[in-house]
Amino acid sequence: MNCPNCGAEVRDVDRFCGRCGAEIRKEAGEASYQQTNYQEGSQQQGTYQQTNYQQPYQPLDTRKSRLVAGILQLVLGWGGVGRFYLGYNSIAIAQILVTIFTCGIGAIWPFVDSILILAGQVQTDADGVPLKD
Ligand SMILES: [Zn+2]
Repeated sequence: MNCPNCGAEVRDVDRFCGRCGAEIRKEAGEASYQQTNYQEGSQQQGTYQQTNYQQPYQPLDTRKSRLVAGILQLVLGWGGVGRFYLGYNSIAIAQILVTIFTCGIGAIWPFVDSILILAGQVQTDADGVPLKD
């Protein structure tokens, strides 16, 4: 229990506070008990508010669209645009080079690539973030 005068912790058997000398009465014990209850209540309330604050919070959706990537790659695959969009820069550059050096025949690769993207064979972008359907 605590001293009603100064709040110092006193033993139950003590009749007077060791710090300020105030008389410890039974009412003081009840008051201390109520104060403890109040503190526990405010702690629970704080937890509840914190939980409420965290629940509506969602990380910003930075996922890239599978559909956008597939269409870009389908239409502009010779330029690796779909792969650039997903962050696969080295693949995109390779697709450009292959298309150039094969006089356009190699554009079959980015075309097939676009089908794979649209079919869901490419699961993530270059950062490993899953694509949005
Ligand atoms: Zn005291």
